[in-house]
Amino acid sequence: MSTDHHDQHDHEHPDDPRALRADALEAILIEKELIDPAAVDATLDYFETQLGPMHGAKVVARAWTDPEFKQRLLADGLGAIGELGLGGPQVDHLVVVENTSDTHNVVVCTLCSCYPWGLLGLPPAWYKSLAYRSRVVREPRAVISEMGCELPSDIDIRVWDSSSEVRYFVLPERPAGTDDLDEEALAALVSRDQMIGVAR
Ligand code: FE
Repeated sequence: MSTDHHDQHDHEHPDDPRALRADALEAILIEKELIDPAAVDATLDYFETQLGPMHGAKVVARAWTDPEFKQRLLADGLGAIGELGLGGPQVDHLVVVENTSDTHNVVVCTLCSCYPWGLLGLPPAWYKSLAYRSRVVREPRAVISEMGCELPSDIDIRVWDSSSEVRYFVLPERPAGTDDLDEEALAALVSRDQMIGVAR
């Protein structure tokens, strides 16, 4: 059992009571040999370095460049991302919704904070906020506008409510003037917020 285990964690707010409580709980679980410190470190490393919106961006770029992949993605999200070696937590029942010139999609979890971790990483704080969860359903255009994205006035907005059964993921529209870009360059254009649907 490593003694410098705790020093390896980089808590942003070392005096935060929640961080202190988590440390105390972890120390007890390790002392009672209920968890393995190496497993804790591996899990933290996974969340800090292996999860993130780069995976979702890769999926979007592939869909933009490969029409057949896109069809498979829209028909069977989990199967299609598996082709790219992607998956991971919280994407077992993945439904991909496509933005078009006349339809914009936005994702929320009105109940809590369901979110496709395996494609986007952990959800941002605002996604979990009561304000976003309650308002985006009633006035999506206003909420998206306040977040800095003015949608065309005639566009149809669809709000998708995620749950433990279904995780939604927005396939943004490929921007004009990107015909010369390869998949990697295209992926670099894709942001987390576009894949949630609060940016375009
Ligand atoms: Fe939820």
